[in-house]
Amino acid sequence: MNHQAGVAEHAEATTEWAHLDAESRQIASQAREHLARHLAPIVADCERDRRFPYELMGGLLELGFVRGVCAPADGGYGRTHLQNALLMEEAGRAWASLRTTMNILSLVAELLTAAGTAEQKASHLAPLLRGERRGWFAITEAEAGSDAAGLTTRAERLPDGSFRLTGEKRYITNAAQADFGIVMATTDPALGAKGITAFIVDHDRGGVTVTERRRLSVRGTTSCTVALDGAVVPKDLVLGQVGRGLATAMAAVNAGRVNVAAGAVGLGQACLEAVVAHTTARQQFGRTIAGFQLVQEMVVGIGLRTHTGRLLYQDAARALDTGRDARTACAMAKLYCTEAAVRSASDTIQLHGAVGLEEGTAPERYFRDAREATIPEGTSQMQILTIGRALLGVSAIR
Ligand SMILES: Cc1cc2nc3c(=O)[nH]c(=O)nc-3n(C[C@H](O)[C@H](O)[C@H](O)COP(=O)(O)OP(=O)(O)OC[C@H]3O[C@@H](n4cnc5c(N)ncnc54)[C@H](O)[C@@H]3O)c2cc1C
Repeated sequence: MNHQAGVAEHAEATTEWAHLDAESRQIASQAREHLARHLAPIVADCERDRRFPYELMGGLLELGFVRGVCAPADGGYGRTHLQNALLMEEAGRAWASLRTTMNILSLVAELLTAAGTAEQKASHLAPLLRGERRGWFAITEAEAGSDAAGLTTRAERLPDGSFRLTGEKRYITNAAQADFGIVMATTDPALGAKGITAFIVDHDRGGVTVTERRRLSVRGTTSCTVALDGAVVPKDLVLGQVGRGLATAMAAVNAGRVNVAAGAVGLGQACLEAVVAHTTARQQFGRTIAGFQLVQEMVVGIGLRTHTGRLLYQDAARALDTGRDARTACAMAKLYCTEAAVRSASDTIQLHGAVGLEEGTAPERYFRDAREATIPEGTSQMQILTIGRALLGVSAIR
């Protein structure tokens, strides 16, 4: 049995995929095999070089990444949220930079498929789904993080109906590797959230300067400052209605949270596989360390958190698929799965001892990457406040 077939068969035989329908199992197992064959051999080099292998984009789109979230009429595969989340779990198991990159491109595709005009779908969505263009998404600013509605990037309407954008966006994922973005800006700061509109901003129209900022984690992606210095957006590139930008973005936020949660479960799964391999091979005191009870406790903790997280994100995805109110389920999944991955990655280093801290090893990467996921798509604290509001009927946010 070769290695790729082996990992897929192992997952089929364990609880990982046992409860899925045949189509979903096939989506997950195809992704696992494809990523093991094409991505796994180059992950360490890409991580070291802080590079995303965009040459693999065609195969990733074929698997259903990005295309999965769009309707067939728009060139997508029209998959369920659960099926898309299963892909995100596989991405997270392989490399957090893959999960993050696919999540951003999926978000851009989802916004265009949901709110775009036929012309916008032809000019921006179709090439995105073919892998010819790439997009980013920007709300965050220096003074507007968790409180996204406090953004100040200004959109000034010009006499011909176009808009001139002025402001600066921060921590924008992969803007340096893309050619357009969806930018939230206010047409009237006095209107608060109701003044915020979504704009499609093409780099080649000018007025856009992208600067990369290095960070600790997820090194195959970039975190960018995007300066908008009078970038002119033609009126036919307003995405959705004027004043409805935040509502449009928030409609996609639940799916984004499920994707981050699923990716964190994938990372937990990678940790589990790494600690099983290491602790059953490593000998101390004349026996494998897997035989020590304190070691087993840590390994079992990783397995339990990973399995619990999987049930939570899949329940949240099913809530989205069946039209249930999914807000609380998505917040619970995002909170639990990302915090669980931080703990599991930390224990993975502990179980490896000194070798787990060596630069370039998988445990060292899992630890850095797990730490990141508790911040974007709403910090852990914002998820707690969302759940608290649902349980108590009282908002602690404002
Ligand atoms: C890796 C990464 C990728 C990102 N990609 C993008 C992107 O592509 N596009 C984009 O627009 N943004 C992106 N962001 C920005 C992200 O959305 C923000 O970092 C996030 O919303 C938190 O904002 P902040 O960092 O300004 O933290 P702050 O909002 O300043 O929060 C700081 C701390 O205060 C806590 N806090 C804040 N308010 C409250 C409250 N009311 N109650 C309790 N605690 C509170 C927070 O939980 C946190 O612990 C990304 C961030 C990261 C880390």
